[in-house]
Amino acid sequence: EAARWEQYLRQAAKTADGERVLTQINVAAPAELDHLDPAICDGIGLVRTEFLFHDQPSLPDEASQFAVYQRIVRWAAGRPVTIRTLDAGGDKPIAGLSMEAESNPFLGLRGIRLSLAYPDIFRVQLRALARAAVAGPLKVMLPMVTVPDEITATAALLDDEVVKLQAAGIPCRRPDLGIMVEVPATALAIERYPAAFFSIGSNDLTQYVTASARDIASVAGLNDTANPAVLRLIGEVAGYGRRAGIDVSLCGDAGGDARLLPLLLNAGVRNVSMAPKMLARAKSVIANWRPS
Ligand code: PEP
Ligand code: MG
Repeated sequence: EAARWEQYLRQAAKTADGERVLTQINVAAPAELDHLDPAICDGIGLVRTEFLFHDQPSLPDEASQFAVYQRIVRWAAGRPVTIRTLDAGGDKPIAGLSMEAESNPFLGLRGIRLSLAYPDIFRVQLRALARAAVAGPLKVMLPMVTVPDEITATAALLDDEVVKLQAAGIPCRRPDLGIMVEVPATALAIERYPAAFFSIGSNDLTQYVTASARDIASVAGLNDTANPAVLRLIGEVAGYGRRAGIDVSLCGDAGGDARLLPLLLNAGVRNVSMAPKMLARAKSVIANWRPS
């Protein structure tokens, strides 16, 4: 069965009309990379860093984070690597860090909100990322951005840590700072957000636009990225990125979904990031798609 699209895995993704579509991978644990050839992808579009904070007696220090980030960047061998800062809270609780008694964790202190609430913890991650950026084209991405101030506040912390690293003679590079587009307020007024790149988080964007949780089975039918309102927002973000010359990718599960991927291509998305096991089939879907 899988053999039908396995032939596509090692090819660069192109539509039936020959238009190039970038296909990147999502990584939730670095061990996933051990048996993967980087040549099958155009880069890593999303590293979920929550794994660093799971099942640990204490928060991971700068040295251990740096080692992990550097290893991922080296694996990619020159391809872009987008590492997301901690996205704790919501469906990703982290013991001792995220709030335990919120009435609605998806609308609570999660993602960048939590990081900015604990700047001493956030600074450690930003320092480790700036150090790993020496090893290759690492980019930093912020989850759950809701207002432009969250980007400027993070940029100030990042710049400050880069200055401190430089003063201490520690090799570092200031990485590009981009954001997840997964809150409707952000998608609806995307031109207000000073980011180096955008990555659409269709999992959260779908749940917030359709008011149906991503983890409640009884509303799974409503939680559909094919909802025209969700697709319209995705199309507007993709269109804005094209006009403004800002890279837009999509790293939610829809990008690797054979039913949804044609709809994303119709909406103008040309850069998708997905679980590695979805790549071959997604490339075959792209190869058979032409603008309608
Ligand atoms: C998303 O929300 O679409 C996304 C990629 O992030 P996560 O699934 O980790 O929330
Ligand atoms: Mg998300």
